[in-house]
Amino acid sequence: MGLLDAKLSGENVLVTSVDNVLNWARLSSLWPMGFGLACCAIEMMATNASNYDLERFGIFPRSSPRQSDLMIVAGTVTMKMAERVIRLYEQMPEPRYVLSMGSCSNCGGPYWNHGYHVLKGVDRVIPVDVYVPGCPPRPEALIGGLMKIQELIRMEGIGLSREEALRKLEEAPVDP
Ligand code: SF4
Repeated sequence: MGLLDAKLSGENVLVTSVDNVLNWARLSSLWPMGFGLACCAIEMMATNASNYDLERFGIFPRSSPRQSDLMIVAGTVTMKMAERVIRLYEQMPEPRYVLSMGSCSNCGGPYWNHGYHVLKGVDRVIPVDVYVPGCPPRPEALIGGLMKIQELIRMEGIGLSREEALRKLEEAPVDP
């Protein structure tokens, strides 16, 4: 079984479901919104550059939320910025995904027990599908998180809800 969960019949005809094809197309052309908030964004930019070459996974950043199906929250989410994060998230078409990159976005990071101006985790204002730990995470870690998002999309194609797919993903982590 391949990515498409397809079978070759005796007459060399590929048999699969429309769901599988659609999800294969979606996970092979992920469009994250270019959205850096602080130092983590430097690693996100490095991931897009030639050394790590994110495009080989079919992932290419867009500059508009209306063209994006993935939000990478890379950096410190201040209270003032939180409102904009929500607005941008709401402008993204469904189905949409969120990856939280780095300690600040995951839980407030160095501002966890002080810093009245920082949100203690972006999941307090929008739903997060995948968390990437680190301060900052290296590009390899971000690529690992993006592969988890791709796996999540592939699983949704075989009749699992987002919650069920996330639970399965936690049980069998993707090795980048
Ligand atoms: Fe900067 Fe660390 Fe916060 Fe990332 S997690 S934005 S590297 S302080």
